Amino acid sequence: MTRMLIMGPPGSGKGTQASRIADKLGIVAISTGDIFRYNVKEMTALGKEAKKYMDNGDFVPDDVTNRMVAERIRQSDVEHGFLLDGYPRTSGQVEALDGFLTEDGQALNVVIELTVPDEELVARLLGRAESDGRTDDTEDVIQHRLDLYHEQTAAVIQSYVTRGIVQRVDGTGQVDDITERLLQAVYSVRERTGNLPVVQSVADGDGGNPE
Ligand code: AMP
Repeated sequence: MTRMLIMGPPGSGKGTQASRIADKLGIVAISTGDIFRYNVKEMTALGKEAKKYMDNGDFVPDDVTNRMVAERIRQSDVEHGFLLDGYPRTSGQVEALDGFLTEDGQALNVVIELTVPDEELVARLLGRAESDGRTDDTEDVIQHRLDLYHEQTAAVIQSYVTRGIVQRVDGTGQVDDITERLLQAVYSVRERTGNLPVVQSVADGDGGNPE
């Protein structure tokens, strides 16, 4: 059973890779950003609450975010595992997640950090801003977003590093190659931590997972 999360800076291709590897592993990808955006669009109570923060580029408060994730990971489609994307982002969220999982007799077993050098991220994000007509996304603004990411994720990642479940993956190159690297990283953490043996290699074809 894979219960994992993926972290990566803006522009790293994390969202795309998250859904690809979740498909390959037969688990559900849960993106808190997507859930919030859906709720904003549908104008639910949660959406109205979240919008106030999202519009300013701030984090939605931990209690709101944690409650939403606790509910989501207890739905029946998650029984074969999950891949969290965009959560946890604060130390409070790390603790809350540990709390829900422990209550359910579960634990997180893989954390992937997708890495791309800042210079390449700036170039990718500037290119995207230009094609989207977002002229406010200057190099300085982008660099600031990247600095914030590094600052915020450092503590979160560190708490998982000490558990020995973190694997860094190079997020540069071809999309398919990155997916392959990510899958191998998931298998290697599981093997290293004794979390179910790997009986099939991704190179065999379907990227199949024996579970
Ligand atoms: P994202 O697409 O992951 O960048 O998320 C978009 C927005 O949703 C963020 O700017 C936050 O306002 C909110 N959000 C997503 N995930 C979280 C989280 N784990 N904690 C707090 N706010 C979040």
